[in-house]
Amino acid sequence: MSATRDLYELLGVPRDASQDEIRRAYRRLARELHPDVNGDPRAEARFKEITGAYEILSDPDKRARYDAYGRGGAEGSPFGDIQDIFDLFFGQGGLGGFGSVGARRRASRSVARRGEDIAVGARLSFREAVFGARREFEIERLLTCERCAGVGAEPGTAPIACRTCGGTGEVRSVRRSVFGALVTTTTCRTCEGSGTEIPDRCERCRGRGRVRVPSTVAVDIPAGVADGMELRVAGSGHAGVRGGGPGDLFVRIEVEPSIAFERRGQDLFAVLDISITRATLGGEVEVEGLDGPERIRIEPGTESGTVVRLKGRGVPNLNRPGRGDLFVTLHVVTPRDLSPQERELLTRLAELRGEGAGPGRGELRRPEY
Ligand SMILES: [Zn+2]
Ligand SMILES: [Zn+2]
Repeated sequence: MSATRDLYELLGVPRDASQDEIRRAYRRLARELHPDVNGDPRAEARFKEITGAYEILSDPDKRARYDAYGRGGAEGSPFGDIQDIFDLFFGQGGLGGFGSVGARRRASRSVARRGEDIAVGARLSFREAVFGARREFEIERLLTCERCAGVGAEPGTAPIACRTCGGTGEVRSVRRSVFGALVTTTTCRTCEGSGTEIPDRCERCRGRGRVRVPSTVAVDIPAGVADGMELRVAGSGHAGVRGGGPGDLFVRIEVEPSIAFERRGQDLFAVLDISITRATLGGEVEVEGLDGPERIRIEPGTESGTVVRLKGRGVPNLNRPGRGDLFVTLHVVTPRDLSPQERELLTRLAELRGEGAGPGRGELRRPEY
């Protein structure tokens, strides 16, 4: 590489060439010398040279310094940047063969983008949330284009360095102020920082590297999920760009309330009405639990508000063994619709217990909580 050669000469443009002329000259030479089209190893060396020249002359600030001080003035070590540009050409998968491992890594680091996440909602019945469910989601996913393998270039063609930023992915502008020259660096808007441009865009994806594909994603929702939870299905979002990993699918869980149960964590709470005779005499009551019929034992003399605990009859723990409990609060119902016969029997009971029809006598005590 002849670092001493004049950069204008390398590109074959006059010293007062406009930015547009420089860009056009570089494009013409790059097309001719690009190692993909030109097998001559000397062409590859020339290609590096013209790319280096373009890198300096396409940047007004670097060009001004080059004009004033020569190549050393344009920047301390221009070759670092040239290598960057070179890497961008050959590090773009799909060209095959040219890039070194290091170059590939560098290029993919600068342009690879992880795919976007997708969010969907799943409405579950109370039972489905408790025991798990399977849902299929119809999603329009962005998947890697098979025609160009995600590169975005028509098969047989390759991306080139962005002509706006010369492959750096950044645009520098110099502003003079009272404090001196202020250099601002912004991401190149033409290539969005990737540093590459695609002259021949893939017919299928129009250069985007991804195509919209209607897909069905089946998700097994585990037992024990709760309202408001979000499940992450790793890798089921949109495909990444230029080697970036795929995004995730997020399933927001909505659970319909139950008529019978209130849920707190993995425990369930319910109320069971029992008659005064059942509460007084005791016995068994059959109820419909989550897993089918359950027998609840009522001890003789049960107070209203007594809580019966059915161990392991609650909601399964999420992603680990074990289940919560079911707590049933017994509520003694005082009858209001007594038949004359029932009234007579109860009055007889009151008499037997020494509770006459007249005013009774009671005693207050502190409540216990
Ligand atoms: Zn650019
Ligand atoms: Zn494509």
